Amino acid sequence: MANKQTFRHQDVTATGARKLRSSLLAWYDRHRRVLPWRAAAGGHADPYHVWLSEIMLQQTTVVTVGPYFVRFLERWPTVDALAGAPLDDVLHGWQGLGYYARARNLHRCAQTVSRDLGGAFPDREEALRQLPGIGAYTAAAIAAIAFDRPASVVDGNVERVMARLFAIEEALPAAKKILRDCAASLAPPSRTQRSGDYAQALMDLGATVCTVRNPACGRCPWSDSCAARAAGIAEKLPRRAPKKNKPTRKGVAFWAVAPDGAILLRRRPEKGLLGGMIEVPSTEWREAGWTQAAARRAAPVAADWTALPGLVTHTFTHFHLELEVLAAHVETHGADGVWSLPDRFGEHALPTVMKKIIAHVKRRGPLQ
Ligand code: SF4
Repeated sequence: MANKQTFRHQDVTATGARKLRSSLLAWYDRHRRVLPWRAAAGGHADPYHVWLSEIMLQQTTVVTVGPYFVRFLERWPTVDALAGAPLDDVLHGWQGLGYYARARNLHRCAQTVSRDLGGAFPDREEALRQLPGIGAYTAAAIAAIAFDRPASVVDGNVERVMARLFAIEEALPAAKKILRDCAASLAPPSRTQRSGDYAQALMDLGATVCTVRNPACGRCPWSDSCAARAAGIAEKLPRRAPKKNKPTRKGVAFWAVAPDGAILLRRRPEKGLLGGMIEVPSTEWREAGWTQAAARRAAPVAADWTALPGLVTHTFTHFHLELEVLAAHVETHGADGVWSLPDRFGEHALPTVMKKIIAHVKRRGPLQ
């Protein structure tokens, strides 16, 4: 193996990689995290549990996912049970995890596995990637963790560990390819080498030892081989290209109150942002902003609209959103949509931004 200052993944020999895996697995056997979806040491992971947790963990933290995972399993203990659930129930159960396209794909994937594959997940990356909502990372994670298939599982934690172990100075996202190559140079080459444990060990190392700030190099099983530690630059890696500023989009939401107190809601289109979720109707969200006259023309029902003071703000992955809210009493349930009394809002799959609108009206609105 190359010396610490010039440690390159191309220089890692089979013996060097084996030693690194061995020291990491020995560390994992003593320090593995107990997680609700994880099999006990030496046990076999349930593919349904692994898949469900990996979909939930995309863009979300372990701490947040834990209670959702437990609730989903209580309600839908098998992939067949999840496949048979109404989509609205699944979206409802997903509330708070965000990125609702994942929940829709989760449901579609469960239906495909249940209907076409007899309820059994495939055990190979290529076949897993054919399923809805399963990309390269998730396929590798399921293949390794649920089936012990050799696979290199690379998420943000693993990228960070690799950037440090090999002292990769190139900035993300351009460095992704080389970091993947680094990870592949160490991944177990055969099914007999605890692929699943290795993948989870690397995740745990990144989450608990090689952390973003203050990496605990003194407790790290790879400290003697780590080039960034030797060079004193661990905390500076991985480097990141400066982020582009997110644009701000603007829209106007319409709070229509019927004589019986019901509020007009509607279902968003199946495709696109918050697809299939229930919303307070609004204009298009765009950077140009809305005049009062243009907003009123876009209202779902003709009424004497009153602007409520203040704005509702929310940040999505690619943009910030600012919503003004117009409120009005209407005479009938005439407009298309779902009329719901406020005390029954809990029955609908309302994403966070819509809950913010409801809270805003409660705070500001004369119309209840
Ligand atoms: Fe990360 Fe430190 Fe371990 Fe290197 S020695 S992999 S920087 S925790």
